[in-house]
Amino acid sequence: MDMGLRGKRAIVCAASKGLGRGCAMALAGEGVELVITGRNRETLERTAEEIRAATSAVVRIAPGDITTEAGRAAALAACPAPDILINNAGGPPAGDFRNWEREDWIAALDANMLTPIALMKAVVDGMCARGFGRIVNITSASVKSPIATLGMSNGARAGLTGFVGGLARQVARHNVTINNLLPGPFLTDRLRANSTAAAARAGHSVEAEIAARASQNPTGRVGDPAEFGAACVFLCGAQAGFIVGQNLLLDGGAFNATMA
Ligand code: NAP
Repeated sequence: MDMGLRGKRAIVCAASKGLGRGCAMALAGEGVELVITGRNRETLERTAEEIRAATSAVVRIAPGDITTEAGRAAALAACPAPDILINNAGGPPAGDFRNWEREDWIAALDANMLTPIALMKAVVDGMCARGFGRIVNITSASVKSPIATLGMSNGARAGLTGFVGGLARQVARHNVTINNLLPGPFLTDRLRANSTAAAARAGHSVEAEIAARASQNPTGRVGDPAEFGAACVFLCGAQAGFIVGQNLLLDGGAFNATMA
């Protein structure tokens, strides 16, 4: 299926590893020109090279912390009029809410709510004027099913989700769609880091912890970032203009409901 994306321009945030990288690779495979971001320049350059080698796409880098004004300005300077924006950043730390102070919450809100809102604000009117835009926010399965130890993630992402629900309906008539992708467990550094404490409690390795988690999933496995990228490409495709303000759960069926 031709997604109609050849020659489109995308900013993919936090894309040197994991789910962001999966989205970047998949978009590049459809002939999208990319600007990818990440804080570590070396890792980002290496990923850009891997994507170029795999897809022959034009890939430029905008190193920086996307949760800062400077990081966002760098991404927008490299691609001032994107057709596609993939919002992503690292997730907040796990812990007990009794230990979180105001500044911890502000950092979580900045990363997982206010940064994607700032980037949408910067690009959405241009997308509307050009009559095409696709925005995908990487959030979390925790928006539907809260994870007790990830309280800041649960809260900040729910705030973003509420905002997107309203904005998506304001821009849809311009062929600009905004949707959220909600990852369950995908095999990335973040999953490994989040499995460390549970592995220690259980007295086994991180790999054993991830295997145990995989066995509890209806699919018997955890997700592959390439699968996540494929879903992202579909939401960005020319054919997806009627998918508006949705929250698509990619969790192998872990959320147990008749209707998700
Ligand atoms: P990951 O494998 O740790 O990769 C994170 C990527 O984001 C790296 O490229 C990292 O590069 C970049 N990054 C992190 N913070 C950044 C910042 N402030 N500015 C720019 N780039 C930044 O994580 P992931 O698993 O792909 O997770 C992506 C998002 O999905 C996170 O918000 C995570 O909480 C959420 N999520 C993941 C899962 C899962 O199972 N993997 C499940 C639910 C939700 P640098 O470190 O060099 O900046």
